[in-house]
Amino acid sequence: MICLRCGYCCLTSMVVIVVDPDKGLKEGNFKAINCLEERCPHLCGDEVGQYSCAVHDKKWYKKTPCFSHGQIERGNQNCRMGEHILAESRSKDKNK
Ligand code: SF4
Ligand code: SF4
Repeated sequence: MICLRCGYCCLTSMVVIVVDPDKGLKEGNFKAINCLEERCPHLCGDEVGQYSCAVHDKKWYKKTPCFSHGQIERGNQNCRMGEHILAESRSKDKNK
């Protein structure tokens, strides 16, 4: 699945994150957060289509719940939710 960086997952999910990226997947280095109430410290960007994850390229990232969460599409297809949110955002911009 290709994440289109709409931000929806990281701004609205309840996730378990790795606190200190340098320590990696170690006991005591995890934290559960509700992203509706607390922004993930690893989320970069402030605009639909421009969000990114600062720990996405860590070698342990594929073992995290965040990675599993993003695997709902088959193969290398664009994320459908992301396409919808980006289209809505473009249409809002046009109507400004
Ligand atoms: S760790 Fe990355 S993918 Fe997970 S919530 Fe934070 S920014 Fe999003
Ligand atoms: S909804 Fe899709 S495009 Fe948006 S952040 Fe989640 S995986 Fe990425």
